[in-house]
Amino acid sequence: MNQELYDYYQAYKQKTNAYALALSTMSFDQATIAPKNGTSYSNQLMAVLSTEAFIHASNPESIKKIEQLANEDIDDLLKKELSLLLKELHDNKDVPTDVFSEFTLATNEAGTAWSDAIDNQDYITFIPYLERVINAVKKQLKYHPNKKECAYNILLDRFEPGMNMDKYDAFFEQVKESLIPLIHQIIDADKKIDESILNQSFDIKSQEVFMNELCEYMRVNRDECYISTTQHPFTSFFSGNDVRITTHYYEKNLLSAIFSTIHEYGHALFGLQIDDAFEGTSLSNAIGFAMHESQSRFLENHIGKSKAFWEPNLAKLKANFPSLESLDIDTFMELVNVSKPSLVRTEADELTYPLHVIIRYELEKEMFENETIDYLQLNEKWNQKYKEYLGVTPSHDGEGILQDMHWSSAYFGYFPTYALGSAYAAQFYHTMSQRLDVDSILKNNEFEKIATWLKDNIHHHGASKTTEEILFEVTHEEFNPMYYITYLQDKFKTLYKL
Ligand SMILES: [Zn+2]
Repeated sequence: MNQELYDYYQAYKQKTNAYALALSTMSFDQATIAPKNGTSYSNQLMAVLSTEAFIHASNPESIKKIEQLANEDIDDLLKKELSLLLKELHDNKDVPTDVFSEFTLATNEAGTAWSDAIDNQDYITFIPYLERVINAVKKQLKYHPNKKECAYNILLDRFEPGMNMDKYDAFFEQVKESLIPLIHQIIDADKKIDESILNQSFDIKSQEVFMNELCEYMRVNRDECYISTTQHPFTSFFSGNDVRITTHYYEKNLLSAIFSTIHEYGHALFGLQIDDAFEGTSLSNAIGFAMHESQSRFLENHIGKSKAFWEPNLAKLKANFPSLESLDIDTFMELVNVSKPSLVRTEADELTYPLHVIIRYELEKEMFENETIDYLQLNEKWNQKYKEYLGVTPSHDGEGILQDMHWSSAYFGYFPTYALGSAYAAQFYHTMSQRLDVDSILKNNEFEKIATWLKDNIHHHGASKTTEEILFEVTHEEFNPMYYITYLQDKFKTLYKL
């Protein structure tokens, strides 16, 4: 191996990572503590820094040297690392700097405009920003190496390598066919879950105290996992020893922060448990979003919504909220797993959740398959689909089309990974439950055994293996959506006595 090329690549990588760390720190600061009136100015400066990072990363001389290094006699891991990096670089290498800057500025400004629009429940003022972002994405895709491919397929593959509309259509058709009738059966079922005990105020300070106890149960290490609050919970990855998660406390909704935190910790755990040797390389971060989401959904639903998980934790919850004293574990499990069609994706139950995703997927497909978009009709279309699939209609756009930040950040093609990730999670859980006595582990306060299983089987690989490889290696099967569908059918038919 040519040492000079290798050293050049190390220096290149170090600088790329320095830009990335600065930009993630600034974004995290903006999302959590920065005063609102400062965002416009810092957006401009962040766009300058992003452009600098882009110019550094896409420098043709650097790309040439990395290509040369990739052709040297190097070990398999370095080969994989370079091939992931080069794929990303080749995707962007023909994008002119001004097109990239316009994209960054459009998304930064749309982010601020979205946040105002949702506060004011005003979709109309958001339209020009959304239009600008979509145009910026379409323009960028004109410089993509696969520009002949349908734009939406390029975006789907970007978020989950190997995925495209044909595969998602097949998966979503199966989901719609099996779950929509079940959702409607539950609406009409005799069995109703009485949620009135949760219709009260839950002191935020006490919620925080309980969350700390739950984090202790999940062995959250605060020396490497920081927890903050934001409007929309998310996880930021700074390094293999520094992840940040956010949650959101609602006085009138006790369960929201609990399951958001468990969900985000699922993402965090993945980042923290990737092989240390991959630090700072494309192997530590480039795995597909569906794979990542499978880990958050795994923890949130398969672990966090199980009776065994709550057996040691319900008493702690009751100690913080004496008004729940009369609650027994079976009633609590019904409350945690109640299914009813709702308007807001992030608050949706497990069964109706994929329908929220499918609605966004179908709208995005239209946006990228059609030359022109009727923006004034988009919110109406959104509402119609909610009516058709879930039987509910938003009373304003804040709980309709404006509810997610994804489109303002140009994350088109991201939503479908949420449903796909849930399906991967069900397949992983099926295997784990055959190899571990999950219930007794959870009851006996041995959460670290779950974390270790996930590390050994899934997390430590990082992006050094593809999703298909990991799925097959762990479950001895290719992706099979029936694990997900059957799991949901069994769980909710039992719960609603159908
Ligand atoms: Zn997630």
